[in-house]
Amino acid sequence: MTKISTGKFSLEDLENVQITINNIVGAIETKAEEEGIETGPTPKPGVSGLRDWDYKLLSRYQPVYTPVCDQCCYCTYGKCDLGGNKEGACGIDLATHQSREFLLRVITGAAAHSAHGRHLLHHLIGVHGRDHPIDMGPSNLFAPNTQLVTGIMPKTLGDLEEVVAYVEEQLMQLLSTIHAGQEGSALDFESKALHGGMLDHVGMEVSDIAQVSCLGMPKSDPDVSLAEIGMGCIDSTKPVLLVIGHNVAGVTYIMDYMEEHSLNDKIELAGLCCTAIDMTRYKTEDRSQPRTKVIGSMAKELKMIRSAAPDVIVVDEQCVRPDVLDEAKKLFIPVITTNEKIMYGLPNRSNDTADQIIDDLSSGKEPGALILNFDLLGEVAPRLAMKMAPIRDAKGIKSLPSEEELKKLTSACVQCGACELVCPNNLPIMNAMVAAAEGDITKFEKLHDHCIACGRCDPVCPKGIPILNVIEKAAQKVIREEKGKMRAGRGQISDPEIREEGVNLVLGTTPGIVAMVGCSNYPEGTKDLYTVANEMLQRNYIVVMSGCSAMDLGMYKDEEGQTLYEKYPAKFLAGNLINVGSCVSNSHITGTAIKVAAIFAQRNITGNFEEIADYIMNRIGAVGVAWGAYSQKAAAIGTGCNRLGIPVIVGPHGSKYRRALIGKPYNEEDWKVYDARNGEEMPIPSSPEFLLTTAETIEELMPMIAKNCIRPSDNNMGRMIKLTHYIELSQKYLGHLPEDWYKFVRIETDLPLAKREELLKILEKEHGWEIDWKKKKIISGPTMKLDVSAQPTNVKRLCKESVC
Ligand code: SF4
Ligand code: SF4
Ligand code: SF4
Repeated sequence: MTKISTGKFSLEDLENVQITINNIVGAIETKAEEEGIETGPTPKPGVSGLRDWDYKLLSRYQPVYTPVCDQCCYCTYGKCDLGGNKEGACGIDLATHQSREFLLRVITGAAAHSAHGRHLLHHLIGVHGRDHPIDMGPSNLFAPNTQLVTGIMPKTLGDLEEVVAYVEEQLMQLLSTIHAGQEGSALDFESKALHGGMLDHVGMEVSDIAQVSCLGMPKSDPDVSLAEIGMGCIDSTKPVLLVIGHNVAGVTYIMDYMEEHSLNDKIELAGLCCTAIDMTRYKTEDRSQPRTKVIGSMAKELKMIRSAAPDVIVVDEQCVRPDVLDEAKKLFIPVITTNEKIMYGLPNRSNDTADQIIDDLSSGKEPGALILNFDLLGEVAPRLAMKMAPIRDAKGIKSLPSEEELKKLTSACVQCGACELVCPNNLPIMNAMVAAAEGDITKFEKLHDHCIACGRCDPVCPKGIPILNVIEKAAQKVIREEKGKMRAGRGQISDPEIREEGVNLVLGTTPGIVAMVGCSNYPEGTKDLYTVANEMLQRNYIVVMSGCSAMDLGMYKDEEGQTLYEKYPAKFLAGNLINVGSCVSNSHITGTAIKVAAIFAQRNITGNFEEIADYIMNRIGAVGVAWGAYSQKAAAIGTGCNRLGIPVIVGPHGSKYRRALIGKPYNEEDWKVYDARNGEEMPIPSSPEFLLTTAETIEELMPMIAKNCIRPSDNNMGRMIKLTHYIELSQKYLGHLPEDWYKFVRIETDLPLAKREELLKILEKEHGWEIDWKKKKIISGPTMKLDVSAQPTNVKRLCKESVC
């Protein structure tokens, strides 16, 4: 066995080599200013620019449609019943319409991120100027998605404008194809959706690059501080200023005003959803303690408002409940909207004085105000919170019932079941009502974490029981204990980290990246995230978090009272836990995979999407998990991963996105690629066996993750490690050996060490493989052979020309 400790090399000439390299020379040294760089074939691809690649993906991973509704009401010919293979009046069939629906979700999500990016960029250019340099930390390659897709290597904020313009133009073209009488092919709608997903990651990257470069956010720093998280962290004896949304631009003005006026200790500033994460990133690149608290994910919005704790609510954009103003009004909480995307019909007070606005809102003359002037917002919000707190105290405003009222309300329940019928999580509300009426609130305490606070149950109760308030009242003790820790988003994975870990990922000795992202529509409560992340971390996977998932993970502690963020370090290394940041930081997860191709494999990424996606799909064991995916943005994020060959698993609610992309592991023809060394076909393992699919339970999820991190490039050590986890997780959570484990065995050293003999016996007995028992070697049986120098590719043109 050859061991290389450092150096520059080509994998092509190496066979059965164990490589441990800490410092790969020859990483991408190209700085953006070096104009001479070769550009790949697809800079700024149009809608059909990567269609061939999409068709390759879609031939192995075929769309499976699960219509939520088989009608279409897009135009006045309709509504049309498309059930039973009927065509609509325009001639579209159900599958094509479903793919159109999926595309619509993806581009809506991509538009949300890109519009966020456009807004931030516009604002930050206004403040810092077009020439403000981009600074993402110790990396030369700091805009991997942008460079890959557009061929642009941005150096300044101004350079990002061209990138956003490209994304916007493409999204507009895609949106136009939703119009009646456009595309008639489901597969071409799918290709368009993949295009939209790719654009999404560029839009997200622009957003995060702009804010990290200008707002003092951590730059690829694994040692950023921990933020306090949870409803229990809020000190409601102080005025509480609650911020909800995704676009931190306006909030930074509130934070600065509070700093300048020594209000940090006087006001409790807390956030919900991604704005909350970005608030903890603002000016914490010096590792200072975040000045704000995080309440949690979107599922906490109504719970927080109903607690009556906020004295002022400030909203920006995305995943903000449309009923925030109505709910807040009932509790005399003024609402300030700060972004044109959400205005709630409120008067635009952007040109009024702070005193006028504060008077009108604190007197109740107006329930809220639209303030688009951030300087004004920065002053109004904290001053208003200071003024509102004593006014609301004096009014004795409360929302939740008293102990006595709780008893009365729960006793009024007639067990009609109407609430359970509408509850999206089918929660056992009736049982909890009966128990609480008898003085036992433990059932409600358990139910609280599973309740996503959608509020659907309240209006259907014939007895007028405010069910969500009952749950929240009964769970007060649990809520007080909701005190966790979340590592503030660290930003990108740096080039040096990729140099250190890239090789382990490609050879499989680090078993994979598990990216746990997305929203909080969990099927069985938030603790599932903790269980999955903990299991995978103990098994040395790199677990990467973002968005609502990153927050919810911090809510649970082990027996020693530690959260996973406190327990595991946050470097890009096996067994580490990383919070990259908010939703838009998801671009750094795909960016990491692109960087491995660029830095470790020295592939040119500039305008070279197909080659890099092909590299990632064949070599980088990564699986995305969006366990609580609810939004259109989550559909876009997942689809962007898919175009790069990264598989994504969604929780059971994810089936409502209407389509999955699933391969047929039993169809051997589908699992062949070319060997770029000679152009010959070579079999590959059926992994990833899907690009987008649903898991029903976390017990099913965990072995799926382990299996779908297997890649053709695994060396024997890597395959042994991955197979060990796949088998162990299957036995631990499903109670049996997985049915297909043997399909991933190429040589006896691929087998888990501790079970090698036992598994060899099974191979011989059940699968007819020939075993040399003296040497404990496999003589015949495997359909694939171990050849780590093979160059698997789906793309013919990447093979040596003479042969292909
Ligand atoms: S777009 Fe086509 S299927 Fe939809 S309502 Fe119009 S005619 Fe019917
Ligand atoms: S508020 Fe909670 S209990 Fe009520 S329907 Fe929604 S998830 Fe179910
Ligand atoms: S809808 Fe109201 S009365 Fe009916 S079971 Fe639910 S809580 Fe009880």
